[in-house]
Parts: sequence; C-alpha cells; structure tokens
Amino acid sequence: MKEITTKLLVIGGGPGGYVAAIRAGQLGVSTVLVEGESLGGTCLNIGCIPSKALIHAAHAFDAARHQAHGSPLGIRVQEPSIDIAQTVRWKDGIVKRLTGGVGALLRKAGVQVHKGWAHIEDGKTVIVQPAEGGEPVRVRCEHLLLATGSEPVELPMLPFGGAVVSSTGALAPESLPRRLVVVGAGYIGLELGMAYRKLGVEVAVVEAAERVLPGYDEELTQPVLDALEKSGVVLHLGCSVQGYDAQHGVRVRSARADEFALPADRVLVAVGRKPRTTGFGLESLQLDMAGRYVAVDAQCRTSMRNVWAIGDITGDPMLAHRAMAQGEVVAEVIAGKHRRFEPMAIPAVCFTDPEVVVVGRTPGEARAAGLDCIAAAFPFAANGRAMTLEATKGFVRVVARRDNHLIVGWQAVGQGVAELSAAFTLSIEMGARLEDVAGTIHAHPTLGEAVQEAAFRALGHAIHI
Ligand code: FAD
Ligand code: NAD
Repeated sequence: MKEITTKLLVIGGGPGGYVAAIRAGQLGVSTVLVEGESLGGTCLNIGCIPSKALIHAAHAFDAARHQAHGSPLGIRVQEPSIDIAQTVRWKDGIVKRLTGGVGALLRKAGVQVHKGWAHIEDGKTVIVQPAEGGEPVRVRCEHLLLATGSEPVELPMLPFGGAVVSSTGALAPESLPRRLVVVGAGYIGLELGMAYRKLGVEVAVVEAAERVLPGYDEELTQPVLDALEKSGVVLHLGCSVQGYDAQHGVRVRSARADEFALPADRVLVAVGRKPRTTGFGLESLQLDMAGRYVAVDAQCRTSMRNVWAIGDITGDPMLAHRAMAQGEVVAEVIAGKHRRFEPMAIPAVCFTDPEVVVVGRTPGEARAAGLDCIAAAFPFAANGRAMTLEATKGFVRVVARRDNHLIVGWQAVGQGVAELSAAFTLSIEMGARLEDVAGTIHAHPTLGEAVQEAAFRALGHAIHI
C-alpha cells in the first residue's frame, strides 16, 4: 500500500477542517487533508450557504408577489412565477464558486488534499480509501485532527427516503411540493419552512416543545411567531409525529393524546444533528467523550496525546463560525504558538424573517448566573431606517451589569439584524461598557442606531423614544 508521512493529518474538509489546514499550511506545517465528499463540508455544500441562497430567492419571489398584490410603495408588477430548477442551479453555482475557492486556498497554503474516506487505525495512522476507487493510501502523521462534523438525526417512525427528506433534500428540490410538513421548529425547520411558504407552498410545522425556537427566549421569538402566523404557516406545538404514508400524510399526536393527520406530499425532518463519531475507526481510540461529543480542552486537545478535535464533533453550539475559530486556534497550537479557544461570546443567528440574533447572556441567563443586570430594548418601530425599509417589527436589547455597566449580552430580532452580530460580539469581546456604545457615533439613518439607543436606554436616557 502506498504510504505518506505528514506532520498534520486533518480528517474532514468542512469549515473546521479546511480552516485548520489552511492556517497550518501558512505556518509551514506539512499538512494532509482528507475529505470523503466535497470541500467545504456541510456548511458550504448542504448547510449555511445553500440555505441562505434559497431563503434569499424565496424572499425575492415573495416580495415580487406582494408588489403584484398592491404595494404601498406604488410599484406595480404582474403576478410573478418561479422556475425552481433555475433557482437550484443558481444556488449550486454559488456553492461551486465557494468550494472551488476553498480548494484554491488549500493549494496556495501547500496542503495536500486527498478525496477519500479516512479510516483510523490508531492515533498516528489512517487509511484513506479514494472516493473514486483505486488503491488505498496509508497516511502516517504526528498530529491527527478530527473534524468530521455532524449529520441529521433520523426519526425511527419517519426514516429518510422518498417524500421524507432532511435539510439536504429540502435544499435541492426538483420541484416544489404542494403541501410540506416540517417536523421540528428549530433553526432548520423555521428557516426552510418559512422559505418554502414564501415560495407558495402550504406549510405546517410539528414541534415537540410548546413554542417555536425553544432555545431562544419568548420575547425574542414573538415577532417570528407573528410572522409565521401572518404568512399562513400552520403550527402544531407540543405535538409528536407517529409516522407518514402518502395517502393520509403525517400522523400526529397532540399533548392531550388526540391523533390527527396532516396531508403532505413532502416531509422535512429537522429535529437536530448528531456528531459523526462512528463508522471510521474513531471508537478504537477510546477517547473521553462529553455525552455524544468528543471531549476537548481549551486548546482542542482530546484525551489522547496529539489527537485533536474541532467543530460539530465537539458539541454545541454546532455553528460554522465556531468550527472555523477552533480550526484557526488548533493549527496555531500545533505549530507551537500559545493559543486557547476561550471566546467571550459566540454569536448565533437564526435566518428566519425576521432574523434573530443572540450574543452572550440573555436577561434570564444573567439572572441565573447570579449577575445583577440592567436590560433595555429599543424597538425598530422608532428607527427611521427601519421605516424606510418597511422593517419596523422587532427590537435590539442589551444586557449589562448594574454595578459597572459591562455589557454581557445582546439580543435582536428584526429584518437584517444578522449584520449587527459583528458589532454585538466585538463589544463583548472588547469588554465594552454601556457608555462606550452610547458614546460611539452610529451613522444615520441605519438600523445600527437602535444598538446605540438600546445602550442609551439602559443608561436611563434614550433620545428617540
Ligand atoms: P462539517 O461541515 O460537517 O464537515 C465535516 C466534513 O467531514 C464533511 O465534509 C464530511 O464529508 C467529512 N468527513 C466525515 N467523516 C469523514 C471521513 N471518515 N473521511 C473523510 N471525510 C470525512 N451554521 C452556521 O454557523 N450558520 C448557518 O447559517 C448555518 N446554517 C446551516 C444550515 C443547515 C441546513 C445545516 C445542516 C447546518 C447549518 N449550519 C450553520 C451548521 C454548520 O453547517 C456546521 O456547524 C458546520 O458545517 C460544522 O463544520 P465542521 O467542520 O465541524 O463539519
Ligand atoms: P434544532 O436543535 O435547532 O431544532 C430541532 C427542533 O426539533 C427543536 O425545536 C426540538 O424541540 C424539535 N424536536 C426534536 N425532536 C422532535 C420530534 N420528535 N418531533 C417534533 N419536534 C422535535 O435542530 P435543527 O433545526 O435540525 O438544526 C441542527 C443544527 O444545525 C442547529 O442546532 C444548529 O447548530 C445548526 N444550524 C444552524 C443554523 C444557523 O446558524 N442559522 C441554521 C441551521 C442549522
């Protein structure tokens, strides 16, 4: 069998693995990256990027439909139609451009990329079976980095196949269904459920918890709930699914044990993701686990010397920017630098309409942590830019310590608030106080003024409300 020796072997070319490999290559560490499917991993191929492309297309179509039905802006257009096959081709073009770019960046950094499936023999040896067949390759390494990501959770009573799809299938529709049932009102269920509704599909959502986006606080999700109801998405909260057949649809049981069926010609199951930790020899390393995830310390070390892990395989939050940040840190640690992965806050954005952003602690979390905090919100209804964008729903909220005004959290809900996440995270990472944000000139007219006004309000003297 052909053999290769390298200092660093990375398994998985998603945002965690490819960033680690690029940074290691830049630092002169000889690096091999093995990827079984396509560079860019879940995020670029079947996750973040394709979902945001579909959401954008759905938003554009919906906006055109609204104009056709009488716009207060005075715009008049004919009833639009959508060619979903062309939409999917456009989305695929973006994915191809980005994944091709990752390949070029890896080449530029001197990383050797092997397209194939890795099987771990021990902490220093991996066999790579080329994806296109042919002779396997044995790779010997000094450092092994696990970045194998995650996969969708399957429900035993609704196995994937035929009309029952995961997010991957929902992001590459050959045609639009007439009626879609979404199981799970979390990130994927609501982002894609809303997008399908905007594309004109009848959408019903079945959620086990009593509320949508149960990971976020209720005040923050209320505008999303209002938008779902206004758009005609039918919610079945506190319900469990029992099975599906094409004739009756999805069988559902409510909290009061009533049973009913929801007709559907497609079913999207989005009830969470699980780390990819089996099927490629990882078990043989007998690493310490944190529940179902690989346990790591603040330098992304596992319990075995020179075996490292990053990204979704290491647990929540399973987000691309966390994986990338860990990838950059671990590469530097392996190259001999003193780095730790200890962020003050990791932003989370849900790309529903309106969008939701959470950075740091909510008022409830601050209370639970024993902090005496001030919380203040500024509504977009009082923001001029929001009015010009027809985006007056939602608010920005700041949470800060009462004693020294140190900001410990930001939350926002509204159109376009995803773009405010950078300012929120920066302020927390830099240890900003309310006075720092209130004293920073925010351009007018922008949605960002609501950030400054929230800080003013927390200090007891909002100007524009
Ligand atoms: P992955 O991206 O999962 O990459 C792991 C790679 O390892 C895969 O390419 C896989 O093929 C490869 N691999 C696994 N085992 C082997 C093996 N044995 N040999 C060779 N290769 C192997 N996150 C956000 O931050 N923002 C978003 O907007 C967002 N939207 C999302 C939308 C959807 C629909 C989904 C499903 C996810 C979304 N996420 C989002 C989550 C994000 O995609 C993940 O957090 C991120 O991709 C994790 O990166 P990773 O490098 O840990 O793993
Ligand atoms: P999720 O954890 O966000 O939501 C799953 C939902 O399904 C929860 O509300 C849960 O209560 C519900 N649920 C669980 N079992 C159920 C059942 N049997 N019947 C009905 N409801 C059930 O998971 P997801 O939406 O699948 O997304 C997976 C992960 O992908 C996210 O946690 C996140 O890490 C990542 N993601 C991030 C983004 C983003 O950053 N914008 C977008 C999509 C996905």
